[in-house]
Amino acid sequence: MSKAQNHGCDHLREGVGYPSPFSKMIALGYHDGPTTGLLQCAQCNQVYEFEEVKRWGDEWELFLYALAPLPLTALGDVTEVLAPYQTPKWPIWCPPWQFPSEEARACADRQVEQILEQAGSTEWVLASYDLLGEILVAQRIQKLSDGTTQEIAVRQAVNDIKHKLSVATLVGDRLCFPSPSHPSSGK
Ligand SMILES: [Zn+2]
Repeated sequence: MSKAQNHGCDHLREGVGYPSPFSKMIALGYHDGPTTGLLQCAQCNQVYEFEEVKRWGDEWELFLYALAPLPLTALGDVTEVLAPYQTPKWPIWCPPWQFPSEEARACADRQVEQILEQAGSTEWVLASYDLLGEILVAQRIQKLSDGTTQEIAVRQAVNDIKHKLSVATLVGDRLCFPSPSHPSSGK
């Protein structure tokens, strides 16, 4: 199958603290929060595979995710593979991965793997507590120049996000970012 060549979601932008454009998630991995799976944009239906690349466990329980584009049908395709065995539940579905037989499980594993193999290269790294709620920081992956691997580009984006988080302050249970466009009057 060919890699996803679509244009990507215009509703993600580089920035801090804005409402998530995503309205549907299938979590294929879960450990104190979703660790890997699929996300779909409510407005353009763009689907991304997401994968946890880092988390801060001590203060914030904050997750950083790498996002790679999938065909627009991918979330529906995975749902179709699993729906005969487990009932989809939205907006966040964590399929329990229970099957009536080893054959059925192996078949589902293979089909889901084939769907995820269509993912393109990582386009975004996001920091979020809740991928359907708020994007705390979004960093676009730079076009890879000579000698730069995907891994280095993702690491660079993670560092950029760390830097942006370092100027944020925790107010109650919310992270607040200094707003450059609205400097406080200070009077
Ligand atoms: Zn979108």
